Amino acid sequence: MKNALVIDLEAEKQEILKRYRALLRACKPTMQRGDKKEIRKAFDMALESHKNMRRKSGEPYIYHPIAVAQIAAEEIGLGTTSIVCALLHDVVEDTDITLEDIEREFGKKTARIIDGLTKISGVFDYNSSLQAENFRKMLLTLADDVRVILIKLADRLHNMRTMDFMPRQKQLKIASETIYLYAPLAHRLGLYAIKSELEDLSMKYLEPDTYKYIATQLNEKKAERSMFIKRFVEPINEILAEQGLVADVYGRPKSIHSIWNKMKSKNIPFEEVYDLFAIRIILDSPPEREKADCWKAYSIVTDLYRPNPDRLRDWVSSPKGNGYESLHTTVMGPKGQWVEIQIRTQRMNEIAEKGFAAHWKYKESSNDNGLDQWIMKVREMLSNPEANALDFLDDFKMNLFSDEIFIFTPKGALIQLPQGATALDFAFEIHTDIGAKCIGAKVNHKLVPLSYKLQNGDQVEIITSGKQAPKEDWLNIVMTAKAKSKIKSSLKEEKRKIAETGKEILERKLKSLKITYSTDNLNKLSYFFKLPSTQDLFIAVANGKIELKDLREYLSSEKEVDNKVVHERPERTEYQQIENLLSRVKTAESDTLLIGEDMQKIDYTLAACCNPIPGDDVFGFVTVNEGIKIHRTNCPNAAQLMANYGYRVVKAKWNSQRELTFLTGLHIVGIDDVGLINNITKVISNDFKVNMRSITVDTDNGIFDGSIMIYVNDTDHLDRLIENLMKVKGVTGVTRFDA
Ligand code: MN
Repeated sequence: MKNALVIDLEAEKQEILKRYRALLRACKPTMQRGDKKEIRKAFDMALESHKNMRRKSGEPYIYHPIAVAQIAAEEIGLGTTSIVCALLHDVVEDTDITLEDIEREFGKKTARIIDGLTKISGVFDYNSSLQAENFRKMLLTLADDVRVILIKLADRLHNMRTMDFMPRQKQLKIASETIYLYAPLAHRLGLYAIKSELEDLSMKYLEPDTYKYIATQLNEKKAERSMFIKRFVEPINEILAEQGLVADVYGRPKSIHSIWNKMKSKNIPFEEVYDLFAIRIILDSPPEREKADCWKAYSIVTDLYRPNPDRLRDWVSSPKGNGYESLHTTVMGPKGQWVEIQIRTQRMNEIAEKGFAAHWKYKESSNDNGLDQWIMKVREMLSNPEANALDFLDDFKMNLFSDEIFIFTPKGALIQLPQGATALDFAFEIHTDIGAKCIGAKVNHKLVPLSYKLQNGDQVEIITSGKQAPKEDWLNIVMTAKAKSKIKSSLKEEKRKIAETGKEILERKLKSLKITYSTDNLNKLSYFFKLPSTQDLFIAVANGKIELKDLREYLSSEKEVDNKVVHERPERTEYQQIENLLSRVKTAESDTLLIGEDMQKIDYTLAACCNPIPGDDVFGFVTVNEGIKIHRTNCPNAAQLMANYGYRVVKAKWNSQRELTFLTGLHIVGIDDVGLINNITKVISNDFKVNMRSITVDTDNGIFDGSIMIYVNDTDHLDRLIENLMKVKGVTGVTRFDA
């Protein structure tokens, strides 16, 4: 027994050294003179101080710091200081080693980072509000040195990878905080590979059955998928080589977590998730040719496969805030399915997978890097005394997810705004007065309206006018909270002033009409003019919308009711024609026009203004030259027709159950997503077998805006179609419109 243990220890020692050497190999790319010695010193200290500790799995504890250091070097691309800190990240907390020891051996910087790491651990041992408070502290530390958070992510990743031996309760807790905080944090820092792995691992523990199900499904179709990818990629490779581009082209499976998200949000089974992988084209290009080569590859791919023009994303010309650079497109594969293509160079790929650390490696001088800006933003948020810890956490999470754009002022200063912000948002971001006086903007020297949606990298000059003032409809144009609240308070103030003036005018006018100025009478007046409040009444008076003659009308209506219905009289001959048609409709049996079978007997047409279809509430309207027109009762013209020409209206009703089809339009808006059009047309053509006459689609800043003209049988049919279209992922609104 004793022998066996000794042998085990010896083998373990060998294994530890083997792992340490692997770590050194991973560190090599960033190592400079003297670094190896530093790392060795840290390794020795960690080994010695953790020597009697074991992990839950029974393994020597030192495996963990070595693995964390390896992740930091290999998967995040961090340098020697971070490797040293990663090796020592648990010693101050778990062993007799003190911060002073660390500082003496490794210097102030290393000690500060380890101090930060020690403080973060134990963050989540309390209830939720304490967690938030602690998270805030963690970010304060982060603002001190971002390496703290990067090493913490490496630590978390390794713990998640080796969680099988933990009790279930602990697994659930760690997995939950990972999905809640660490994965979004990794995303924001541009660590996409780590982010998806954290998500997948969390799901493995939080929803083990679903995780296993999707993993199994993916595995079963693996051979089929590989075959497809091979065939798809072959011609691309051929032409890339012909054109002298060196590239690695491969299919990259989407994460289980993202597939699960798609199934949930679209409410579809696994079989219907079509984008289980993306094709990556990683180019080996020298720096000066990177952009040109990416577009060359794009051109090659789209010569072979038809691209979806709405799905082109160019983060090569303007990288994302977290440093991500890539060219994305979606093309139609040979079997009629959309395939996502990501084109980038090796350098860009490294940034995509390792995030900012990789970024630093390439950018020697880091004077314009976005991370500094982000850290400044975090500082700003932290210093806001109003927000309590939980609000802060929510804000922070929201900001992690929302993509930001960077806009330049004419002088070149950088302003950060959320995706979708307009020129007007920008104006308010600069100064409240500039926002309030804004009449337009020049974006990249071209004149645009206030509602212009800004694109990353736009240079914006605001044009103001002393006569301008905030308008009600500006609220629909802006999206930032700052602009909204400024506009609202300005409108309120403006309204108050106008109402004040209107009140004085009204008092005078009522006096001249000998109407008492009383709350009761003000209410009656508001009611008479169909205004929601007395303030609106004052405003209408101030704007001249209610004049003395209107007030007189009110006065007479009080005495006499129903003396103002005046019909317009048509010309005599027209009148005769109309009478004729009317008498033909209103037969002895019925006074209702049955649409669908009286075709031959009475000439009628469906009004173009509202395109009625069977099932709609309709009425007939007798026209002079075109027979009877059928309108929907909610046609925009209906009220006016019925009010002014009531005698020309005939009751009408749909009769036919025949399979007639009627042309109508659907307006579909949504968030642009891979394959959105495909899914919409699938519902229309395949599921509902409805014929489309035309389809026009606009996409702007990720907003999908489409108009589709289709042939339907009746309103039931249409309602069911709308209901199903609403279920398509990304679709936020479907409304019928009339051509
Ligand atoms: Mn640890």
